Amino acid sequence: MPQPDPIDAASGDCVFCRIVRRELPAEILYEDDTFVGILDINPIHYGHTLLIPRRHYEEFLDIPPADFRGLMQAAHRITGALVESLDLEGYNVFSNNGRVAGQSVFHFHLHIVPRFRYDNIRLVHELRSYDPGELPQWGERIRRHLSPSRS
Ligand code: 5GP
Ligand code: ZN
Repeated sequence: MPQPDPIDAASGDCVFCRIVRRELPAEILYEDDTFVGILDINPIHYGHTLLIPRRHYEEFLDIPPADFRGLMQAAHRITGALVESLDLEGYNVFSNNGRVAGQSVFHFHLHIVPRFRYDNIRLVHELRSYDPGELPQWGERIRRHLSPSRS
C-alpha cells in the first residue's frame, strides 16, 4: 500500500494548504504546477501578493533547491504584473521565517508588497554598526558554514 506523504499528511489544517486545495476561498492571481499566487487578505498595501508553494513546506530552508528557479520565475512574473497594473514606484519581496521573524502562517510564502513614495509604510529597524575588526570575524564565522565540503 502506498504510504501517505509526510509533508501532505502534516498539512491538513494549514490555511494555505486549504486555499491551494480550494477548500477556502482566495483571490488567485497566478497558478502553475508548483506555486499559487494570491492576494493577501490583510494587505500592507492593496495588491500585496503571497506566492505559495502548493506543497506544505514550513519555511524557506525546507524548499527543495529544484523549486528555487520556479519560485523566482513566478515571483518575477507576478512582480512585473503588479508594477504594470498598479503603476508601482517600488516593491518589497520578502519572506518571514520563524515566529521571531514575524511568520504567522507556517507554510512558506513570499510576500510581494507594492510601494509608493508617500505610502507611509515603515519597516522600522534600529541599525547597528560593527566595532573595528569585528566585520571580518563575523564574515569568517559564517563563511566556514559555506565551504563546499559542507554542502
Ligand atoms: P506571515 O506573517 O506568515 O509572513 O504572513 C502571513 C500572511 O498571510 C499575512 O500577511 C496574512 O494577512 C495572510 N493571510 C493569513 N490568512 C490568510 C487567508 O486566509 N487568506 C489570505 N489571502 N491571506 C491570509
Ligand atoms: Zn500548508
